[in-house]
Amino acid sequence: MSRIAYVNGRYVPHKQAAVHIEDRGYQFADGVYEVCAVWNGHIIDEGPHLDRLERSLRELRIGMPMSRQALSLVMREVIHRNAVDTGIIYVQMTRGVAPRDHPFPAIPETQVVMTSRRIRPQPAKFGEDGVKALTLPDIRWERCDIKSVSLLPNVLAKQAAREAGAYEAWLVDDDGLVTEGSSTNAWIVTRDAKLVTRSASHAILNGITRLAVIELARGEGLQLEERPFSVAEAKGAREAFITSTTSFVLPVTQIDDQVIANGKPGSLTLKLRQRYMAHMGDQTRAEAAESA
Ligand code: PMP
Repeated sequence: MSRIAYVNGRYVPHKQAAVHIEDRGYQFADGVYEVCAVWNGHIIDEGPHLDRLERSLRELRIGMPMSRQALSLVMREVIHRNAVDTGIIYVQMTRGVAPRDHPFPAIPETQVVMTSRRIRPQPAKFGEDGVKALTLPDIRWERCDIKSVSLLPNVLAKQAAREAGAYEAWLVDDDGLVTEGSSTNAWIVTRDAKLVTRSASHAILNGITRLAVIELARGEGLQLEERPFSVAEAKGAREAFITSTTSFVLPVTQIDDQVIANGKPGSLTLKLRQRYMAHMGDQTRAEAAESA
C-alpha cells in the first residue's frame, strides 16, 4: 500500500509530497510540530497534544489554519489512509511561503503538513535492560517550551549519543543541572523513593507523556518533586528513566560511564511504565466503546 501525506488541504502520494522552497519552515525553521502516538488505531492524549500545538502557535504568533475539529478529522484521515494501527501521526505548521526575508510576511498563510507511519514495537530489551544516556551541554535557545521545528541542537546531541552507543543525550545547563533529553523528558528516583523531574518552564518541553506520568504517579500516591537535579545526583540515584510519546516510559540504567544502582531497571520505573501502557490501552478501549 502506498503512503499518503496531507499537504495544505490535499492528500498526496508520500513520494510526491512537497512544500515550496520558500516555505519559512524550510528556510528559517519558522514553524511548530506535534507527534502523537497511534495505538490500536487511536490517537493517544490527542487533547493535550492539540492544546500544546495551539500554545506553540500562539507563542510564535503563527495563525491556526483550521478549526480544532477539522484538524482532528484530518489527522484521523491521514492515519486511516496509511492504515496505521501502531505508530505515529506527525503534524507540522509553518508561517507560510514568502520571498526570503526575516520579518513576518504581510499576509502569512500557515502551511500544514501531516504524515503518519507505522512504528515497530520497541525492542523488549529496552524495557528489560534499560538504556544508556550520555550527558552533553544544553546549547539550545531559551524557549524550549515551544515545540519548534528548529531542532539542530537536539539532532546533534542525539547523533553524539548514538555515536557513543547511548540511546539518549541528557542535556545539562550552565549550572550542571539536567534540563531534559534531546527528545524526551528526564526523571530520577531518589534514594528515599521520591520521583524527581524538572518543573515545566522555558527550559524544557512540557512533555505530554511527562504530564500523563505525573498524573499516574499521583494516582499511585508516589511522592513527586518537580525540581532540577544535577548530573551528580542522577548518577547516584536509585533509578532513572525517560518519557516521551514514542519511548513511553523507558528505564535509564547507565549515565555516561556510571551504572545506575545495580544496573537493572528500577521498580518504580517499571511500575510507571506498566501504568503508562495501561493508560494508552484505556484510551483505546474508551474510544472504541464510544464509537460502538
Ligand atoms: N523534550 C523534547 C525536547 C522533545 O522533543 C520531546 C518529544 N517531542 C519530549 C521532551 C517529550 O515530549 P512528549 O512526551 O510530548 O513526546
